Amino acid sequence: MTSDPFATWRVLSPVAIVGAALILIALERRWPYTRGQRFLRPGLGVDLIGYALVQSYLLGIVITHFSAWLDGASGLSRLHLVSAWPVAAQVAFFVVTHDLYIYLFHRWQHRSPLLWRIHEAHHATADVDWLSGARSHALEILINQTIEFAPIVLLGAAPEVTLIKLTLDSMWGMYIHANIDVRSGRLQWLINGPEMHRWHHAIEIRDGVNFATKFAWWDWLLGTAFRPARKPSGFGITEPFPSGYIAQQIHAFLPRPPIPAPAPLPDPGDAEVRGPFSERRFTGMNSPWMR
Ligand SMILES: [Zn+2]
Repeated sequence: MTSDPFATWRVLSPVAIVGAALILIALERRWPYTRGQRFLRPGLGVDLIGYALVQSYLLGIVITHFSAWLDGASGLSRLHLVSAWPVAAQVAFFVVTHDLYIYLFHRWQHRSPLLWRIHEAHHATADVDWLSGARSHALEILINQTIEFAPIVLLGAAPEVTLIKLTLDSMWGMYIHANIDVRSGRLQWLINGPEMHRWHHAIEIRDGVNFATKFAWWDWLLGTAFRPARKPSGFGITEPFPSGYIAQQIHAFLPRPPIPAPAPLPDPGDAEVRGPFSERRFTGMNSPWMR
């Protein structure tokens, strides 16, 4: 162990991510949410090499340089706005604020036909598993991760905060998509998991529900939580979608017919699995911009 926290996290981060992936893969085999879903499913290679490795690496370089340029131009990090805070408080601050941002932007992406185009790749997979969360259009990553990581630099956070946040993002992203039959009870009001996020990917839901990433409380508080006891009939989208990485990137910009009106939400059924704010669910969810 070195005394430089940044150097420590450079080693710890990939170890933690790979370790978490292996644990989640083992849990998927032991307690599958969707029985019969294969490990070697269609698109695994594209998701792993195209998205999780190559795209993440290249966009990481772009976002790092852009953040450094932004800081050089503004000089904002010299104000050291959060530098005196304990590292744990810095991490908590950026985790919670970015999680609220991502909830709101994600919900907007499901409402706006234009923004849906850069989110569609993420929903197009028919097999939701530990890796499928990595599949996000490059433009979506550029927007979301610049908004995520530039403030960490600009507000003068400790250098390792970026790596800690990146590690948490990767582990949590793998967990909420994992094909694991988690029943976390009331913890699912706070901590998001596959139980609610797999419904977000349900093929029968076009309106969009469960937009939260790390903290499910955003959905419960803002009326978008959906947590029936049963499982979705399948995952993905009904429109055709290309299978190659480059074709998926280009698909977002191609002309297409108007998006059909969303179907009403299915009846959530079992009342006992509703959360603390069940009476407020789905308010404002029937906008024609919704999908
Ligand atoms: Zn979504």
